[in-house]
Amino acid sequence: MNCDKYYPYTAVPLPYALGALDPHISEYTMYFHHEKHYMTYLEKLNAALKDSPLMQNVPLECLTKMDCADIRVNAGGVYNHELYFASLSPNCKGPSNHMKEKIKECFGSQEELENKLVQTGMGLVGSGWVWLAMTREKHLVILTTCNQDTIDLDRLAPLLIIDVWEHAYYLDRQNRREEYLKAVMKCLNWANAESLMKE
Ligand code: MN
Repeated sequence: MNCDKYYPYTAVPLPYALGALDPHISEYTMYFHHEKHYMTYLEKLNAALKDSPLMQNVPLECLTKMDCADIRVNAGGVYNHELYFASLSPNCKGPSNHMKEKIKECFGSQEELENKLVQTGMGLVGSGWVWLAMTREKHLVILTTCNQDTIDLDRLAPLLIIDVWEHAYYLDRQNRREEYLKAVMKCLNWANAESLMKE
């Protein structure tokens, strides 16, 4: 989704009000997450690229694979957070019939997919992300990455991403990660996932 993005990076506004996901995710958490954590990655990415004209012409997706940690980590922080905020919605309508068929084919049922997303998040050691992605063979898969790493964006199309860093839930739920993951299931933006699938 970020394939055309280049330096200088500007913040993508939250596509809903800060408090719109409450009670699943509070306004307080979303404020710190979007206005502080995400903005810090954005500012650090711009700072890391400021004196590197060559890197300024490399698209964001490619910056997430760079050897230079300062660029890679902050590019991943920007990419992942933009996808995360777009993966959530206060008007969750659930998957369309077409998406439902795909989910049934790959996971058995919507319930099994959600259980697997929650369990995968519970199994993640340290800070990281849970992804729902589509392979080139049009198969849906669940993956995890650590820190601010992205999945292989050349081979996989990300559809949804869940932030499993403690800052995503600690203010609301302290150590109750499972409660957060289950709350996220209630506000996943399936319409956005489906439009990414069509791309
Ligand atoms: Mn985060």
